[in-house]
Amino acid sequence: MSQSIERLIAAQRAALARQPRRALSDRREDLRRLQALVSEDIDAWTAAVSADFGNRSPVETQLLELSGVARAARQARRELSHWMAPRPVPTPLLAAPGRSRIRYEPKGVVGIVSPWNYPVQLALVPLAAALAAGCRVLIKPSELTPRTNALMAERLARHFPEDQVAVVQGGPEVAAAFTNQAFDHILFTGSTQVGRKVARAAAEKLIPLTLELGGKSPVIVDPDYGVDDLAHPLAWGRFTNGGQTCVAPDHVLAVGGPERARAIAEAVIAQAARFYPDLSANPDYTSIISPRHYERLVALVEEARAAGAQVLQLSHDAGLSRQTRRFAPTVVINPPPGLAISTEEIFGPILPVISVPTVQAAIDHVRGRDHPLALYVFSRSRAVVDQVLDQTLSGGVTVNGTMLHLANDNLPFGGVGASGYGAYHGQRGFLEFSHARSVFATGRWHSTRLAAAPFGKRAHQIARMAFKA
Ligand code: NAD
Repeated sequence: MSQSIERLIAAQRAALARQPRRALSDRREDLRRLQALVSEDIDAWTAAVSADFGNRSPVETQLLELSGVARAARQARRELSHWMAPRPVPTPLLAAPGRSRIRYEPKGVVGIVSPWNYPVQLALVPLAAALAAGCRVLIKPSELTPRTNALMAERLARHFPEDQVAVVQGGPEVAAAFTNQAFDHILFTGSTQVGRKVARAAAEKLIPLTLELGGKSPVIVDPDYGVDDLAHPLAWGRFTNGGQTCVAPDHVLAVGGPERARAIAEAVIAQAARFYPDLSANPDYTSIISPRHYERLVALVEEARAAGAQVLQLSHDAGLSRQTRRFAPTVVINPPPGLAISTEEIFGPILPVISVPTVQAAIDHVRGRDHPLALYVFSRSRAVVDQVLDQTLSGGVTVNGTMLHLANDNLPFGGVGASGYGAYHGQRGFLEFSHARSVFATGRWHSTRLAAAPFGKRAHQIARMAFKA
């Protein structure tokens, strides 16, 4: 397998050598094709994704995957001439006369490794950014979504030659061989645990890396925020895609006593019941990707229950739910720290609600852990929102909502610390796959003449001046 990866990389390198810098018009055409590829035959995409999950509504796949790819390609196509234009920057007196500018060069051959939870978007939105930057791209999608991968490989092959874009399929062994190749940049989306391995392999070859990882994204809720206003965004963020979303709210830090946590928990379950009546075979509710992942979620809840935490669960037919892998929306009140539910990324439709005495205690809770990919704060007070923003760090934030910062492609998307590094979406994605190359063109006369040896009085004066220039 690694031989075929090497063959594809060699073909892409040869194509890159023939055309090191794709013209604006070519890149626009690439992006037009990418946009067409997800916009035509939408039913084939939604059916493939749904078959891979066991069930996912076509609405979720269109809203959260396909439209995101189309939007990314369209925005890049519209704004590309501006993004690609060399940026003139001022030249200081000491370097004058001359002209300084930054050119954005394609980094070269790029590897994209994607996870299963949004199998189209997390492979093809980075692809849009890499194509905008003029790169050539190999994609290694997750082995857990074979039908979507087959469709993606077939559609990409229809629109792009393999020396420009190609898909490599396979499991962890293929993935490890893939990330050991001499790419010019790798964008990896997946777990923090695997991200560490990818970072080690990339460090060995000094390959620049974007790591889009996971983690536990907290929600801080101020007592001034009404439970009825809270329930919808919390339930939407936690239960969309069956909770299998990297920026989903992982747990709620509810400022107030246990009765406040209980009220929030009940409101979230009531909202889930409005979203998904007759849960077990509900066509709008996404199944858990595999039996292994389903059983892991069962174990998380059972451990919390056994440790004495209160568990509220949407009523369901247990046998049918297991068979269809529709894990019932669940809220766990005050699980003890140290349990798997309190330490591992949940990545399913389970929401712990934890009572904390003050906003500062919630902030301290967040600060005591890895920087999360997303953070949510619900408060009507500007001062409280600022207090949370000023004292914490996370990849991104939505205030008084969940996950919506991802809906704005002008905001960079990425983590910080254990949730990853680097970012993409919009122009930030173009910059991630471009090398910002400094170009200085001298005038006819070089300022170095004034300060070259043998150093006379004037050279000494210039050396002093340099501190002021
Ligand atoms: P994963 O880390 O298990 O797998 C991701 C990809 O890495 C897959 O393509 C897999 O084949 C590959 N892989 C497996 N072993 C590898 C190895 N040794 N070397 C190189 N690649 C290897 O993650 P997953 O279970 O597919 O996805 C869930 C995780 O991804 C969660 O932690 C979630 O938070 C995270 N995630 C992050 C984002 C983001 O944008 N930050 C988005 C979605 C998911």
